[in-house]
Amino acid sequence: MAGGYRYHCGECDHRTAWLTESQGEEQHLQHYLSRHSGILPGGWKESAPPRTGGGAGGCLGVLGGVFLILVLASTCEAGAAVPPAGGSSVSLTVEHRLDLLR
Ligand SMILES: [Zn+2]
Repeated sequence: MAGGYRYHCGECDHRTAWLTESQGEEQHLQHYLSRHSGILPGGWKESAPPRTGGGAGGCLGVLGGVFLILVLASTCEAGAAVPPAGGSSVSLTVEHRLDLLR
């Protein structure tokens, strides 16, 4: 498997292939030497998680996880708020009925 880094040129749209950090750095410097001689190498380094073919799948997975957490959080809030209030009103009703029966 190829490495998890690629380097983007800061001066043009060039970027290296996915390489190891040292290989990418070398190609990045070579690009600057041949295309932008006289300019200090800039741009940025992109790191990728292993085993992914593209970025879209990982992004959707994160969004799905956030959505699930939000749904679970709202469900827990609703579940925690209802029982105490409902429980006290039910017991009051039972006491009233016991008084009526006496
Ligand atoms: Zn360039």
